[in-house]
Amino acid sequence: MDFTGKRVVVTGAGKGIGRATALMLARRGAKVVALTRSAADLETLEQETGCESIAVDLADAEATRAAARRAMPADLLVNCAGTTELQSFLDTTVEAFDLLHAVNTRAPMIVAQEYARDRIAKGAKGAVVNVSSVAAFVGIPDHTAYCASKAGLDGVTRVMAKELAPQGIRVNGVHPTVTLTPMAVKAWSDPVKAAGMMTRIPVGRFAEPDDVAEVILFLLSDESAMVNGLSMPVDGGYMIA
Ligand code: NDP
Repeated sequence: MDFTGKRVVVTGAGKGIGRATALMLARRGAKVVALTRSAADLETLEQETGCESIAVDLADAEATRAAARRAMPADLLVNCAGTTELQSFLDTTVEAFDLLHAVNTRAPMIVAQEYARDRIAKGAKGAVVNVSSVAAFVGIPDHTAYCASKAGLDGVTRVMAKELAPQGIRVNGVHPTVTLTPMAVKAWSDPVKAAGMMTRIPVGRFAEPDDVAEVILFLLSDESAMVNGLSMPVDGGYMIA
């Protein structure tokens, strides 16, 4: 898959899956526009890839829209930024619930609105990948806000896929299982919990960021021209186990 000459916006490109995706896209010829929060991550990514950097807190709707407008025009979009808070159902706070929905569900919608408006105005085709999670499909203890925010993102993805495909923009979701990134350390550092999850993954390991990035690139590429509205597990078979 060759992305030479393509300008690709990647949110959450500072760490983890987003960073792996940005690096892979750059290796395959793309000009990456990185939208993320930490300036230090943007600086190192810029040095490694020559990407364009936009620092933004995606929990802030107005700032997100302004950053998305700055990032356009783009050929392709990856909504990868995400966050989590571990709280039991009974202890889930309104603040955490709202924050996770702002970052995981609302921000992808806002960035995609700006992306799609620009593509449609130009009469240009495009593709969006929203990074969801297996947590959108199953209830994971201590992940009420996260599961809800990712299931909500899937709803956004499906509506986008129906409304935007007639305008030439395909929209798909990827649903990783535990992937070895800073977020996974936060959510899965308890060895008992991690072992329980691992036994349910038939391939016998957690995902690496590049495992997910490869699937994202496929869904962005013209090789997947007939794939639209898909929720694609990248889970080693977790969902069928
Ligand atoms: P990481 O925590 O490793 O990286 C997340 C990236 O998103 C960071 O660059 C982070 O920036 C950025 N980000 C988070 N919050 C904000 C914010 N408010 N504003 C701007 N940028 C923000 O996460 P992963 O790579 O693990 O996760 C990437 C995506 O994959 C997420 O959507 C996640 O939900 C999903 N996912 C991850 C799984 C896993 O096991 N790792 C499993 C399934 C899905 P900063 O560090 O500066 O906050």
